[in-house]
Amino acid sequence: MPTLHIVQGDITKLAVDAIVNAANSSLLGGGGVDGAIHRASGPELVFACRMLNGCKTGEAKLTKGFRLPATYIIHAVGPVWRGGAHGEADLLASCYRRSLEIADAHTLQRIAFPNISTGIYGYPKDQAAEVAIAAVSRFLEKPTSIQEVTFVCFDAENRTIYEQILQSQNQ
Ligand code: ADP
Repeated sequence: MPTLHIVQGDITKLAVDAIVNAANSSLLGGGGVDGAIHRASGPELVFACRMLNGCKTGEAKLTKGFRLPATYIIHAVGPVWRGGAHGEADLLASCYRRSLEIADAHTLQRIAFPNISTGIYGYPKDQAAEVAIAAVSRFLEKPTSIQEVTFVCFDAENRTIYEQILQSQNQ
């Protein structure tokens, strides 16, 4: 059975098969976790991203990790929060599902996600965590190469939210 983990910290430090980036649709870098990943991965990353011609919201694309300890980066574009009635939950779930599909297609085993859309894009953290955990859990019900999914929470608030949801599911 694949396992779910929660850690608090900087996703760029993780030596997993793939880390997911909360990218914007240009894929050319931005603030938040995207900026941290570009800084840690090095200038090769933006060259690789230029070849990808951007990415739609809810979709994901793969590059190498370059100077990161992670082998690959899966760049997923989360929705901007616009009140919740603009398909945000489906688009956010799609980010997690598409990232896992790409990881599975490359027979990767260990993948780590940031809390997509909960920074600059303004998605309420508790609702985003519910969507993330539900989408990942549903994906892992089917046979897959993925053995371990880590939710990397940058802030204590997100960490507590994730811990509470997972604890309530295990009861
Ligand atoms: P978005 O535009 O999708 O909201 P952000 O990068 O602004 O993306 O934020 C997404 C989440 O990533 C936020 O919860 C933010 O606190 C977190 N974050 C920022 N830097 C890092 C990092 N180095 N490692 C992991 N998570 C990070």
